[in-house]
Amino acid sequence: MKKIFALLCAACMLTASLSACSQASSESSTASNTASDTNKDDSTQETASVTTVTEGKLTMATNATFPPYEYYDGNDIVGIDAEIAAKIAEKLGLELEIQDMEFNSIITSVNQGKADMGMAGMTVSEDRLKNVDFSDSYAKGVQVVIVKEDSDIKSIDDLTGKKIGVQLNTTGDIYATDDFGKDNVQQFNKATDTVLALTQGKVDAVIIDKAPAEVFVQQNEGLKLLDSSYADEDYAICFKKGNTELQKAVNDALNELIEDGTVQAIIDKYIPAE
Ligand code: GLN
Repeated sequence: MKKIFALLCAACMLTASLSACSQASSESSTASNTASDTNKDDSTQETASVTTVTEGKLTMATNATFPPYEYYDGNDIVGIDAEIAAKIAEKLGLELEIQDMEFNSIITSVNQGKADMGMAGMTVSEDRLKNVDFSDSYAKGVQVVIVKEDSDIKSIDDLTGKKIGVQLNTTGDIYATDDFGKDNVQQFNKATDTVLALTQGKVDAVIIDKAPAEVFVQQNEGLKLLDSSYADEDYAICFKKGNTELQKAVNDALNELIEDGTVQAIIDKYIPAE
C-alpha cells in the first residue's frame, strides 16, 4: 500500500531563461503578517522588476490550518511558509500579503490571477504539474496516519474498510481514495476538522502530513501516529502556468535562502531536530 511519491523537482523547474532580476530601486519593504522581521540582512536585498497581482506586493495564497507551516498566532499567520515567503518578498523588494483560504482554492486562486503564488506545504505532484508550475522544493513532507491511542489500527493495511479522514484535495485525500476507495474516505475543508472528527469518533484514522500531525497529536490527548509512514513528498511553491518571470525571481530568491542556510534555520526553529 505504501506509496513513495518521489518527484524530481528539478524537472519541474522552468527551462526558459529570463532575466527577471534587474536592479531597480533599493527600496525595501517589510513583509507584513509574519513574525519574521528579525534577522534582516540588507546586504542581500534585491529589487526585482517582476509584475505581481498587486503592485509592490507579493500575494501568497495559503490555508492557515497547517501548523507548523502556516497557522494563526492571534491575528497573524505565522509558520515556516510565512517566514520563508517573507524572506523571499524582502529579497524582491515586495511586501508580503498572505491570503487565507481553503486548501482546495489555492491553485484556482493562483490560476485566476488573484494570488501570485501558492505556498501551503504543497506537495509537487504530476497532476498538479498539469495545472500549475512549481518552484524548486524547499522541504520534505511525509504522509502519516493518526489514530486514537486505543485503536485496533496498527499498520497501514489495517486501514482497509475503516473510515479515513482527510483534507479535501490534499495528497492524503488522493492517495487514500486511490488505495482504500472513495466510500471509506471522508473529506474536510480544514486539517483541524479532520482531527476533530477523529477525536469525536466520526472517523477511525486521519491521513495527513507528518509535521502538522505531530502538532495535532501534541495538542489533543489520546491520539498517536502509526510508526510506518504512508508516502514521501516534496513541498514547493506553485505559480500560474507560464508565469515564468515571477517563478524565476521567486525561485532564485528561494535558492539563495536555501544556500545561505536561512530556510533550514526557519525549519529548525519550528521543527526541532529529533
Ligand atoms: N502536502 C499536502 C498536499 O500538498 C497537504 C498540504 C496542506 O494540507 N496544506 O496536498
